[in-house]
Amino acid sequence: MNRPVLGIPQNTIEILRKYDFSFQKKFGQNFLIDTHVLDKIIQAAKIDKEDMVLEIGPGIGTMTQYLAEAAGKVVAVEIDKNLIPILSETLGGYQNVRIINEDILKLDIRSLVAEENGGKPVKVVANLPYYITTPIIMGLFEAHVPVESITVMVQKEVAQRMQTGPGSKDYGALSLAVQYYAAPYIVANVPPNCFMPRPKVGSAVIRLTCHELPPVKVKDERLLFDIIRASFGQRRKTLVNGLYHSDRLRYSKDEIIRAVERLGKGAGVRGESLTLEEFARLSEYLEEAK
Ligand code: SAM
Repeated sequence: MNRPVLGIPQNTIEILRKYDFSFQKKFGQNFLIDTHVLDKIIQAAKIDKEDMVLEIGPGIGTMTQYLAEAAGKVVAVEIDKNLIPILSETLGGYQNVRIINEDILKLDIRSLVAEENGGKPVKVVANLPYYITTPIIMGLFEAHVPVESITVMVQKEVAQRMQTGPGSKDYGALSLAVQYYAAPYIVANVPPNCFMPRPKVGSAVIRLTCHELPPVKVKDERLLFDIIRASFGQRRKTLVNGLYHSDRLRYSKDEIIRAVERLGKGAGVRGESLTLEEFARLSEYLEEAK
């Protein structure tokens, strides 16, 4: 067995020098240089030799080495072509790693999982490029890619938004969307000095354990998400006004007020006080009003 050699600052610096690599800010490149954090991520991801792991943005392969030791197979998707020769060297000793030089947002991940894992659920593990955290995670959910869990490093505030419930200032469309598909759990906060170069923001590792079935049942998933988006579109608006002014929804003010009252709420209620279960009921009431 190989032993992971990256994750130690000297080794990372050495390989970057050898290939004369320059960091691309536009790709959100902040490489992990802390073995404790790497161990924590691997532990939280609960990987074994039966698993296929999809890694998004392997960088120079630091975490990929750990993943390759733990998993049966690793498929890693990296956009930056300058990293591919580096990955060939750092992952050269592993027979169970496939590197794909692609933009994850343009890849048909469902087909990839079908091809590489016979359509069985995979585990996603990544230190995500922060500029596209939400599209990556929502893309996996909305494309119904078979995924068992998603263990990722994200910006600290984003992790808080994913995990929080009604009543908090961080609660919003992202909290509800993530919690419809998965149970979130913040594993650890990670300071900027664990990366090279250091990001300007704090980071956190979050584990999303995907639900087999959503915790609420609705007839029309798209309507539920249109309602959620409209409710948080403008923070200071009441729920009724948010829904009424949405360009995706076509309900009269009376229909909306009646649906909100059926929920047992006054017309002045705001979206940020509703639970996922209440949003689901609201969407059923509006569906019936059609
Ligand atoms: N996993 C490495 C680590 O932990 O050291 C690197 C993490 S770095 C925060 C994010 C990585 O994602 C970079 O290697 C970057 O080039 C890659 N990346 C950025 N945008 C991407 C995209 N659209 N598709 C695939 N990879 C992307």
